[in-house]
Amino acid sequence: TFDLLVVGAGPAGASAAIYAARKGIRTGLLADRFGGQVADTVGIENFISVKHTEGPKLVASLEEHVRDYEVDIMANQRAVQVREGDTLEITLENGAVLKSKSLVLATGARWREMNVPGEREYRGKGVAYCPHCDGPLFKGKKVAVIGGGNSGIEAAIDLANIVEHVTVLEFDSKLRADDVLVRKARSMANIEIILNAQTLQVNGDGSKVNGLTYKDRVSAEQHHIALAGIFVQIGLVPNTEWLKDSGIELTLRGEIVTAANGETSVKGVFAAGDATTAPFKQIIIAMGSGATASLGAFDYLMRSSAP
Ligand code: FAD
Repeated sequence: TFDLLVVGAGPAGASAAIYAARKGIRTGLLADRFGGQVADTVGIENFISVKHTEGPKLVASLEEHVRDYEVDIMANQRAVQVREGDTLEITLENGAVLKSKSLVLATGARWREMNVPGEREYRGKGVAYCPHCDGPLFKGKKVAVIGGGNSGIEAAIDLANIVEHVTVLEFDSKLRADDVLVRKARSMANIEIILNAQTLQVNGDGSKVNGLTYKDRVSAEQHHIALAGIFVQIGLVPNTEWLKDSGIELTLRGEIVTAANGETSVKGVFAAGDATTAPFKQIIIAMGSGATASLGAFDYLMRSSAP
């Protein structure tokens, strides 16, 4: 039986495991893929104190740091179920069951994709998902934002300060973003908003994006726009499908509801990072919340094992 079992080894999980091991408690780290989303990231320039790094390099450092401690690492394993009780039980895809007195769930999230031709091919070559991360790469260029919800309009406003021009493409006949954001976006001279636009294809020259094709859903006409970057902002999907019947409270969007100390609605279960309701999904934020959840779990263990 572990004292603390961490599920997920992205920045949140790695941080939680290190904080737990430093307390001298029996710590396990279970993950499908070490590094999580960071493994898919090219340049990282907002990991404070490191001016520039690359995803795979940061993943290697994360793993090296975790391996410096007594952490029982179980990589390439998927959790499929969690059962509550005095001892919590995690069932793996291969049928094995792990037991722990406390848990930190840090299974992260994935960007919702458009699923159109060219999107996968040009991911990291003009197709981007994180304006905070990749916006500056398109300084002085033309970009599109796909999606007119809050994240799309926020992205457009954010990008309009950096890039030459932003075209927002919204599938629906109206924007779903908050009014104040829409007004701000409409007031900016270099933002154009196109409604009823269905993105059909990401175009490129073989090595990078040079445009996109969309269909006007009213006239059925197809249009091409020349641009250097496409920011897809149609939602973030938390990797929490496996928690649906666990008793752990999730929001409608599937985020794990967490308190300030990382605790969830189930005793002994804490959560951190992109899988949770914590606002803003970033590496440095995930690491901080991993540390918080781990210290929250340690505090819980201290109090629950009092003689
Ligand atoms: P994740 O990194 O998503 O890690 C989740 C972990 O859980 C993984 O180990 C995964 O294998 C594991 N897992 C999931 N489900 C299960 C399961 N059922 N069983 C076992 N394990 C499971 N942020 C920045 O700050 N700067 C950037 O420049 C930046 N660029 C980005 C570029 C891209 C392309 C992407 C996709 C994201 C970027 N981000 C960036 C966001 C950042 O990567 C995330 O906020 C951060 O990785 C979240 O960390 P996490 O630990 O919560 O989750």
